[in-house]
Amino acid sequence: MSELLSLSASEQARRIAEKTVSATELCDAYLARIDANDADLGSYLRVDHEGARAQAHAVDAAVCAGDSVGPLAGVPIALKDLLVTESLETTAGSKILEGWVPPYEGSVVRKLRSAGAVILGKLNLDEFAMGSSNEHSAFRPCKNPWDLGRVPGGSSGGSAAAVSASLCAMSLGTDTGGSIRQPASFCGLVGLKPTYGRVSRHGLIAYASSFDQIGPLATCAEDAALMLEVIAGGDILDATCSTEPVPAYQAACKRDVKGLVIGIAKEMEGEDVDTAVSAAVAAAIAELESAGAEVRRISLPHTRYSLPTYYLLATAEASSNLARFDGVRYGKRKGNEEALQNMYEKTRGAGFGAEVKTRIMLGTFALRAGYYDAYYKKAQQVRTLIADDFRKAFAEVDVIASPTAPTTAFPFGAKKTPIDMYKADVFTLSCNLAGLPGLSMNCGFDDSGMPIGLQLLAAPMQEETLLQCAAAYQRQTDWHTRRPNFGGQP
Ligand code: GLN
Repeated sequence: MSELLSLSASEQARRIAEKTVSATELCDAYLARIDANDADLGSYLRVDHEGARAQAHAVDAAVCAGDSVGPLAGVPIALKDLLVTESLETTAGSKILEGWVPPYEGSVVRKLRSAGAVILGKLNLDEFAMGSSNEHSAFRPCKNPWDLGRVPGGSSGGSAAAVSASLCAMSLGTDTGGSIRQPASFCGLVGLKPTYGRVSRHGLIAYASSFDQIGPLATCAEDAALMLEVIAGGDILDATCSTEPVPAYQAACKRDVKGLVIGIAKEMEGEDVDTAVSAAVAAAIAELESAGAEVRRISLPHTRYSLPTYYLLATAEASSNLARFDGVRYGKRKGNEEALQNMYEKTRGAGFGAEVKTRIMLGTFALRAGYYDAYYKKAQQVRTLIADDFRKAFAEVDVIASPTAPTTAFPFGAKKTPIDMYKADVFTLSCNLAGLPGLSMNCGFDDSGMPIGLQLLAAPMQEETLLQCAAAYQRQTDWHTRRPNFGGQP
């Protein structure tokens, strides 16, 4: 196993640019490790050997010719299979899209390619990003490299498992209600969900459009910063994407946390949190305090409404977004094409999994004529109250710290009901309801050796503060340097 794979993505990029490592050598090392180990893990849905090698060769040729190369030149990454990739099958983890080869490239993927990234393949996920464990993938389960009997989290489970197992240097996930941060927490990584509008959603298959954001999963804060610098910024193809200039996120990683105020909300603690998780989170906050941060108690009174509010609004948006999968334009078609209703029913009946159908029905119910005021409108009003709580809190504090999830990664099959599964998101949902940036990073391990995540939230467009805190913490601790004993150490 090549020791190159244990280097950070930033270090890999440096070595490629200074010609001490070739992009081809690095790409081949990852491909070999994937081929040898991913059958046990299930993190990839598709590996693009040929495409990745071609990109790596192009980077090497450019470096040799002395051409200027992008900030990710030669860095092998992989993408959640919810991101549209031109000429490379994209399924959203669903049978309904099986075999769909997109005719266009999503904006973020285009940015990655022009920054020189080598795209190794497409990663496993819960179908249409609906889930918290990757158990809803229509194709195969993805496991947690720290313990193959446990879930990697979801919905970006493949994105987290692959980085954690050194099957790519970094990845992109998407986060609608926690799907970057919770798998990052379960797999011991940094996961960053950007402010709503910070990153273009063009080419992101929509789950709940007013929540969805694309963001990086990486082994350290510097790598997440490097990736965010590439993917953030305005996009004419997404009207909700902000044109605010992109700050120097990597520079933010060099700042210390002296004088920074960290808020702890009583509503984001509680008896449902594992004692090992509470203890590790408290120790991490104490660590930041010893680095010069100040801690203040705050209140976010409407937090307890986050879960019902999110599941009402997200399912309502999903029921509308997923109406386009009807067998007419995309993917698999079933039934009698002469009878439109029959084709819709057969295509959707066979194409969608049980969880997706549940959500479509919940959302359709909430949007029924006559119910709008009672459900959707009410939930939107509560969403405003939740955002107001944060606005008030961020007048006093710079970041809010909490556990990312109440537990560490759980065994397959442990969540018996949908509600039990939804509760895995209690601490991550309010961030998306308010459109804030949020980060999870590893802050220790429980007695079974499973990683624990610390969540940090900041005011809109303050990703720099999150990265500053995470990098400062990682300078003082070494949790983030530990890798699972999977497939032999890289
Ligand atoms: N687990 C949450 C859900 O199932 C969040 C998913 C996500 O962020 N994509 O909706």
